Amino acid sequence: MKKSGEAEMEYTIKTSRPEEMIEITDMVRQEVRKKGVKDGIAILYVPHTTAGVTINENADPDVVHDILLGLKKAFPENIGYRHAEGNSHAHMKASVMGASCMVMIENGELKLGTWQGIYFCEFDGPRSRQVYIKIMKNDG
Ligand code: ZN
Repeated sequence: MKKSGEAEMEYTIKTSRPEEMIEITDMVRQEVRKKGVKDGIAILYVPHTTAGVTINENADPDVVHDILLGLKKAFPENIGYRHAEGNSHAHMKASVMGASCMVMIENGELKLGTWQGIYFCEFDGPRSRQVYIKIMKNDG
């Protein structure tokens, strides 16, 4: 689902699990094609504190499984955090992944590596989430 903004597109992603990584590469690709930008930059931004966006392997699904498992081990759910909402682990995971990422556009295509995909990362779902995509054209 998407909505037109002045300068960027806003997509809604409905997550279905407490933690998951959803590949959104095709969504970004379609946005690049629609804008007709041949040379530029795609910027993705997630306006949330317990979700993020990252680029990683999309060939072996075990990589996504292992990233989520590794983050779970690195940031346990309850070790005496103070944050009353009880989701401090999700805030930390979101910060590790980051709220934004950038991909170069060359010849009208995302310049990603062979095994790379763009992932929306949910750490406190299921929820309805937003992703902003801004496609910038290189005028130079
Ligand atoms: Zn919180």
